Amino acid sequence: MCQIPKWLADTMTSVANPWLRNAVVTHTSMVSDELKLITFKGDFDHENFLPGKTVQFRVDESNFRQYTLSAFNKKDSTCSVLFYLHGKGPGSEWAANLRTGQPVKFRAGEATLRYNDEAKHHFFFGDETSLGLFNWYKTTALACSHEYFGVLELHPQHEGALSSLKIMVDNVHSLADAPAVNAIDWMEDMHPDCWAAWKGATFYLTGRGLSINRFRKYLLGKGVDAVQIRTDAYWADGKTGL
Ligand SMILES: Cc1cc2nc3c(=O)[nH]c(=O)nc-3n(C[C@H](O)[C@H](O)[C@H](O)COP(=O)(O)OP(=O)(O)OC[C@H]3O[C@@H](n4cnc5c(N)ncnc54)[C@H](O)[C@@H]3O)c2cc1C
Repeated sequence: MCQIPKWLADTMTSVANPWLRNAVVTHTSMVSDELKLITFKGDFDHENFLPGKTVQFRVDESNFRQYTLSAFNKKDSTCSVLFYLHGKGPGSEWAANLRTGQPVKFRAGEATLRYNDEAKHHFFFGDETSLGLFNWYKTTALACSHEYFGVLELHPQHEGALSSLKIMVDNVHSLADAPAVNAIDWMEDMHPDCWAAWKGATFYLTGRGLSINRFRKYLLGKGVDAVQIRTDAYWADGKTGL
């Protein structure tokens, strides 16, 4: 439920209050002009947030929006979220205005897209909204001596975020009217030996719904088993707050 009348949003917030996590913004930094990394400090002593954990913020009187943790440090009681400030909705505006010292409340949701601990190879596909998730997955993969690889569809001005975050995947430019097409071309150019090494990976597809659908179909067509593919649509053209 992402947009509801204010009175209902107030009621839900007050009923859910005992379960809401309280935190304070302790650090903000711009990874690119429109990618804002925010660290929150709270009482997380009893939390065991896992990679893929989603969180929900009330971003104005009537709207709730979901985001993914990009890191969690239990010892420091901090967690981070990487917000894409696309400037088209209240979530983006709210995140753009978050400042150090500001208190926030959030609901901790499920880890909807779980990291597959059993797999040795992890392949990432997504866009700006996926960077937070893949940042934590990358850290997890390195800690487990697993391998990761992938291709993202980022706008050219956000490409530098990959090196800032030290996420070693490739990038192709996103095309509004041709979702996943550049990424599929990139896959087609992959050397057969490289594909032989990666075709058994766990594939994580997040971000734009249309891109995920097309990329998933492509993978199935290449013989990847459906159980190897984990998907979570984070946004859809013309729809608000998935
Ligand atoms: C489980 C889950 C986890 C998510 N994790 C993250 C995260 O870690 N970081 C993050 O930045 N986002 C994340 N998102 C996506 C984020 O919730 C959406 O982008 C959401 O639409 C933002 O709300 P808004 O109020 O800014 O825009 P809305 O009011 O929801 O949408 C306004 C308009 O903007 C368009 N829009 C939404 N997202 C984009 C986009 N990325 N590019 C272009 N147009 C867009 C919509 O289609 C709509 O037309 C996640 C979503 C889900 C469901």
